[in-house]
Amino acid sequence: MNNPLRAPSIRVTGDRTSDTPTPPVHLSVTRESLLSTVNLCKSYHQGKCSVPVLKGVDLDIESGKFTAIVGKSGSGKSTLLHLLGTLDSPDSGEIWFNAERLDQWSLRRKDQFRNAHVGMIFQFYHLLPELTTLENVLVPRMIQHGLISYWRHRSKYMRRAMELLALVGLEHRLHHKPNQLSGGEMQRTAIARALISDPVLLLADEPTGNLDSDSGRDVVDTLIKLKQQRQVTIVMVTHDENIAAIADRVIALVDGQVQIRR
Ligand code: ADP
Ligand code: MG
Repeated sequence: MNNPLRAPSIRVTGDRTSDTPTPPVHLSVTRESLLSTVNLCKSYHQGKCSVPVLKGVDLDIESGKFTAIVGKSGSGKSTLLHLLGTLDSPDSGEIWFNAERLDQWSLRRKDQFRNAHVGMIFQFYHLLPELTTLENVLVPRMIQHGLISYWRHRSKYMRRAMELLALVGLEHRLHHKPNQLSGGEMQRTAIARALISDPVLLLADEPTGNLDSDSGRDVVDTLIKLKQQRQVTIVMVTHDENIAAIADRVIALVDGQVQIRR
């Protein structure tokens, strides 16, 4: 199998039926667009009231690029990111992960896909307070494999986690707990955790929203380094125009639809 991190772009192949069990999602080289949506719609319902949030989103995320999503608070940025990351389902429209209709996959296959190929970073880090930096980074591998299988591969994953923590500049904080880290360090731990499964796609929801500008800049520099060194495709929601300015592409959500800024 090609290493998807090294590939210029990827394509999913595998069983298209929604019945379980499903085989692992495999990736191979194909065209430039990694992820796209067609006429994506999503409303939330509260009692009899329906709140339309996404009203026909057409989007094309290029492989290996850093795309920033901007828009007013409440414009649906997080909703869109959750749909792209298969954490939620659209009411209608299509989501393509290259040549496959992601939105038509079974829940199980979406889980597999997300665990294996998508890294997620959120504004509030969501680190486990009782675990060290190193242990927090290893958590997705423990969940993915189950304890016995994880234990068998433990030294390999430990090495990988330490490499990633060095990549995000935290090699000197391996055994600190979250309450002994700064906000920027916690977010860089969360980035390392998001990378432990070697994702092709990194989805970040206002990852600098809780940080001062210097720490925020460190986090963005780390993400850009990742994009350059490992060709990870990054989609980042941000309200920070300075960060949007260094993205390869900027799209804005306005009235439930996408406006391409550049
Ligand atoms: P953004 O991330 O751009 O601030 P969100 O995607 O979080 O916006 O939310 C878009 C709109 O959908 C907001 O008006 C929000 O109140 C509403 N919303 C989000 N999640 C839910 C939910 N689970 N139930 C009802 N309304 C929701
Ligand atoms: Mg949001």
